[in-house]
Amino acid sequence: MLERGNRIVEVIVDVHVHDVDRVFHYHDPGTFDRPLQVGDRVLVPFGHRPRVEGYVVGFGDGDPSALKRVSKILDPEPVLSPAAVAVARWMQEHYVCPLVQGLQCFLPPGTRLRSATNARALVKQGFHLADDVDAPTKAVELERTAPKQAAILRLLHSHKAPIAFAEIERALSVSRAPLTALLAKGLVAETQVRVERNPVRANRPRRAPLTLNAEQQRALKRITRAIESSQPDRILLQGVTGSGKTEVYLQAIEFAQRRGLGAILLVPEIALTAQTIAAFEEFFGGELAVLHSRLSLGERYDQWYKIWRGEVKIVVGARSAVFAPVRNLGIVLVDEEHESSYKQGEAPRYHARDVAWARARHEGATLVLGSATPSLELCYARTVGEIECAEMGNRVDDRPLPAVQIVDMREELARGNRSMFSVSLIERLEHAMDRGEQALLFINRRGFASFLLCRECGYVPRCDHCEVSLTFHQPDQLCCHYCDTRKRLPAACPECGGPYLRPFGGGTQRVQEEFAQRFPRARHIRMDVDTTSRKGAHARILSAFSAQSYDVLIGTQMIAKGLHFPNVTVVGVIAADIGLHFPEYRAAERTFQLLTQVAGRAGRGERAGEVVVQTYDPDHYAVRAAARHDYEGFSAQELAYRERANYPPYTTLARCLWSGEDEVEVIQAAQRGSESVGSLPEDERPEVVGPCPAPLSRLKGRFRWHLLLKGNHAQVRRGALHIQESRKWGNALRFAVDVDPVSLL
Ligand code: ADP
Ligand code: ZN
Repeated sequence: MLERGNRIVEVIVDVHVHDVDRVFHYHDPGTFDRPLQVGDRVLVPFGHRPRVEGYVVGFGDGDPSALKRVSKILDPEPVLSPAAVAVARWMQEHYVCPLVQGLQCFLPPGTRLRSATNARALVKQGFHLADDVDAPTKAVELERTAPKQAAILRLLHSHKAPIAFAEIERALSVSRAPLTALLAKGLVAETQVRVERNPVRANRPRRAPLTLNAEQQRALKRITRAIESSQPDRILLQGVTGSGKTEVYLQAIEFAQRRGLGAILLVPEIALTAQTIAAFEEFFGGELAVLHSRLSLGERYDQWYKIWRGEVKIVVGARSAVFAPVRNLGIVLVDEEHESSYKQGEAPRYHARDVAWARARHEGATLVLGSATPSLELCYARTVGEIECAEMGNRVDDRPLPAVQIVDMREELARGNRSMFSVSLIERLEHAMDRGEQALLFINRRGFASFLLCRECGYVPRCDHCEVSLTFHQPDQLCCHYCDTRKRLPAACPECGGPYLRPFGGGTQRVQEEFAQRFPRARHIRMDVDTTSRKGAHARILSAFSAQSYDVLIGTQMIAKGLHFPNVTVVGVIAADIGLHFPEYRAAERTFQLLTQVAGRAGRGERAGEVVVQTYDPDHYAVRAAARHDYEGFSAQELAYRERANYPPYTTLARCLWSGEDEVEVIQAAQRGSESVGSLPEDERPEVVGPCPAPLSRLKGRFRWHLLLKGNHAQVRRGALHIQESRKWGNALRFAVDVDPVSLL
């Protein structure tokens, strides 16, 4: 090791200005109680500020004496591992984001100096017997004169660890006075105890692993071989819905656990229900940590440190759990890897699946990517041999995949059926209700109607702040799904005063209302953002449906994924086209994935399932392929389209987005951005598409223009950096680069 106190320290400072994404050099005075290390969080003077938080990313040679000094080390041990620093560097390079943003993803929650909300360990006063106190004897002495003091002594005697006053109060119903008396007599002493906020039910009996079928065994074998090799490896676990992927994940994690290795299992936030968390707790006997956005900051903080101290080695969580400080990482698993929620919508705009691979590469871990409908990126990687694939083509116990019927809603209309339910769907629902079976009705839009239209003048109520029409929510609200602006339903058309403002297009509320009219005796419940906003509502609805207190569950994509209800035999997709005509190149892929997932909810028990897919576009290849359960057919056709149109996975894409309140300024900035790319040498520059207004051309009062950069990663990065660095716009504008965007709205 270098001589302490004679080193140059490379520090990344927590200052968010676009042009400070670089290392600053400081002097290590060598006067701390331990040597500085890479990954340390420190305080340094920066500019006029005496104390700015910074992160040590390396050490340099040379004479440090002219440099400013590091003033303090903030933690007893480095909070960032060398691998974390390496992955943050990869994020900086890949996503064109400042290094500090990547580093901060790895920090304990709520501990940044600059953060608005701060977390810390919860410490309470605890009490224990003073040294050398013979509690039983003392208790007998005190029994007659001070029985409460005697009781406290006995209680403390029976407890090994210090306990809080609240616990004493609960056990003995005493006031604080006798305790104060014992403290004064020197019989009891006071100390600090850390109270852990733990969302996981620990110390539970562990359930035995299931006996795997042949396909599951093969997949598990492939994974455990990779873990044993200790080399980075990536495996695609492609298994149809109901093929038992979860059991393979769990047994793979257990294999790693037996070897003393850590594991991270990523699950889409929406699928991380109480039901699934309970299933994980049961398998691992509560020896795991969970990380998701519904935890309090304190809970997240305690879970983080528990993982960091190595007290738990298994982490189950949503997107950001990919940064969990698991030591000796053996395996990372990403369930439903195609899910768009793995992409973070704000800076740093990372994709958890790709960060997971960067982590696996740096830590010699195995990455398992599971899906029934792998993303086109992975499909391509598989085709060109970059990733190996373990396939599970059959459902557990060889249950058949459900039969899917496509219903052409144009024909229904021609036959005079104006309802949201086709004749075929109604028949199947009747049948299921008669037999005491359950059904799911899926529509990927909440509210009653997607918009209102004046039949006389054509007026459509729109949001004042966003370039979208307002959705009608019963009983009397118009609501913007982007900024949540709400208005009362007008009694007459605000434009022509006519009485014919009529709802068009359906949402969950409308499906529920029509269902109730047709099936007055059936019990139904709705699950969407509006019915699940209160804490615990989500879990209550699912467990009530699971207990068969309801016959039908109506919902948005919240009900499409991961749920396992063996008594569901009928699934109705009310409008398969929502989303199909979004102005995005991924629209077909998303629709295919969603339809496959929804259809996968049917027939997961003893009885076979049936799915009815209603659509106005029955010949669309995404709809047809989903109905045939034909992933290979769909992906071949979709890949061909992507190649023709030069979209990912055949090219790298970055989106540059400007937004601001002054439309002219926004347009000019986007145009100058586009021009500046033109000044790069030809072979280094990406293709520029646009600039043009974003599909959501106004959002929350801000105008939005964007352009796309296409090319290889180096070209796209060069273009984005160049735009960012030339920065030909004022501070009133916001600018964002999104590499590998999943949404172009
Ligand atoms: P997927 O995630 O592939 O859609 P799941 O993991 O939800 O499928 O598994 C479907 C059901 O099959 C679950 O109820 C699971 O407990 C059960 N299952 C999985 N593997 C087995 C097995 N080897 N034997 C019996 N049941 C199994
Ligand atoms: Zn709005």
